[in-house]
Amino acid sequence: MLYKGFEAVIGLEIHAELACRSKIFCACSTAFGAPPNTQVCPVCMGHPGTLPRLNRQAVEYAIMAGLAMGCRIASCSTMARKNYFYPDLPKAYQISQDAQPLCRGGELCFETSEGPCRVGIERIHIEEDAGKLIHRPDGTCIDHNRCGVPLIEVVTEPGLSTPEQARACVGALRELLRCIGVCDGRMQEGSLRCDVNLSVRRPGEGPGERTEIKNLNSLLFIQKAVEQEWHRQAELLLSGGRVQMQTRRFDEKSGTTVRMRQKESAADYRFFPEPDLMPIGLEEGEIAALAAALPELPAQRRARYAAMGLGAEAAGRLASDRALSDCFDAAAEETAYPKLLANLLLGPMCRLSTGESFSCPVQPGRLAALCELWGEERINASTAKRLAERLWTDPGHPQDMVEAEGLGLICGEQELAAGISEVLADNRELLEACRGGRQAAEKALMGRCMAHFGGRAHPQRLAGLLEQAIREA
Ligand code: ZN
Ligand code: MN
Repeated sequence: MLYKGFEAVIGLEIHAELACRSKIFCACSTAFGAPPNTQVCPVCMGHPGTLPRLNRQAVEYAIMAGLAMGCRIASCSTMARKNYFYPDLPKAYQISQDAQPLCRGGELCFETSEGPCRVGIERIHIEEDAGKLIHRPDGTCIDHNRCGVPLIEVVTEPGLSTPEQARACVGALRELLRCIGVCDGRMQEGSLRCDVNLSVRRPGEGPGERTEIKNLNSLLFIQKAVEQEWHRQAELLLSGGRVQMQTRRFDEKSGTTVRMRQKESAADYRFFPEPDLMPIGLEEGEIAALAAALPELPAQRRARYAAMGLGAEAAGRLASDRALSDCFDAAAEETAYPKLLANLLLGPMCRLSTGESFSCPVQPGRLAALCELWGEERINASTAKRLAERLWTDPGHPQDMVEAEGLGLICGEQELAAGISEVLADNRELLEACRGGRQAAEKALMGRCMAHFGGRAHPQRLAGLLEQAIREA
């Protein structure tokens, strides 16, 4: 895609907080939302003389993320100090990884309106989060609770070229990390944040100077920021200007990117090996055990649902939430009507499940039984949906509810024919109009017949018998 003759070259660096209960180098809690500076200790506050101790769970989660993206896991990786001064970083260096990251290679696949896409993953490394600056009218405050929260940084190749691709790529990563349970993906809480590297070029030319847009915390902002920055650089070049390597941020109010500072180059960070932490050595068996414990990934789930005959949208929605997908799978084992099941889950059940991820108190067997009743045309769609909602609070079995309350469809030929004669007798003028070939009149008669049976007549059988009765009347 081009904007005024320029294409965008986009790479992403995504920071994801790992779902560990304690921090990466100390035992402080990582829970979000605690009062400022209550989840801190000398280690994560960066006091001199303290020693970091690596959280094993963080390493395992990072490996799981790497495996889920098809990365190679290093048998030996090392931690490094990344030196920079910023008020939210009390040690004045961040313990991260440099030359020997935990994961290399791999890829992320995602869907866009132009079809399926993929981008290569350059590396995934572990590091500690920094604190949070809280800007207020009377000054800036620092909350150190976030210092030392375990992070992975996922670095993609600069292989993306449109705002939609950037957005969809982060969306797919979020879905994947949530599915394997290593990150809650709450972008509004900062659990997942995206930095965008972007340059523009005329097709066939080498890449231009790039800028970095920091800390985008919503999928929509990613898409908007990429579009804005792409257009800004193109306009700048067209007007004879030069793109400068710099760090920018996205201003939500104006919807534009704003300059923050000239970009540091890697040399400015003066990475050096972290002397307080041993290299991370991994046996092949340990990696294999983590691989074996991975759940089925969203892409595999989507493919399986498509093979079951579900449409792309339904398959995608089911696969995007592991709890929803697991619920579907459990119920689908007990019904021959997976499409109807998807319909009930994505419709009434998703509406009733108000939490962040799907949760439903209805046992899969009862949902499946409801689908059987619907699939065998013993109840109609609106009854099925109404009953699905009731199952949420009613412990009854669908079959019993249908029988006890007379909710089943009326299928008997005699009963239907008798009702039709009554309706025809009461609607002579409509019958005349039908004979005159007016389709609207036939529709109206069908409506009256259905109303006569309180909406519970078997629609196809009713229509067949009505047509016959009109012909013979
Ligand atoms: Zn601590
Ligand atoms: Mn980082």
